[in-house]
Amino acid sequence: MDPGSANYLCPRCKKPNLKPCLDGGIYFLRCHKCDGAYFIEELDVEQFVKAKLGTEAARVYARWLVFSMGGGASNSYSRRLCPLCSNKLQRHEFGMEPLCWVLIERCDLHGFWMDRDEVESILKGCQDAARRG
Ligand SMILES: [Zn+2]
Ligand SMILES: [Zn+2]
Repeated sequence: MDPGSANYLCPRCKKPNLKPCLDGGIYFLRCHKCDGAYFIEELDVEQFVKAKLGTEAARVYARWLVFSMGGGASNSYSRRLCPLCSNKLQRHEFGMEPLCWVLIERCDLHGFWMDRDEVESILKGCQDAARRG
């Protein structure tokens, strides 16, 4: 994608509020209304966590979270749409209870959508896990 200029439809707001942003050294799409984030690559999630929390332990935990999601399609579709291809997003569990369990939405081709509170849960879960060691 060209991160320069385009606006994309926010899966949550259903308005073209998503813009590419650079945060923590990675590009992702962020909604300036609801503050949700669409990460393009699995690696971006762990890079983002590392940039925000600053520890290798947090990054390792973020990698485990992404891995826990599995690669395959879930059979639970969301009503929200991928900002890049307009296919329905699929719901995926991220983590395992009681460790940072959130339901994120994913397009198998393009990335992961997380609401603002889901981003915060993931950061908090990684921070707690990193502290416990
Ligand atoms: Zn939004
Ligand atoms: Zn897509």
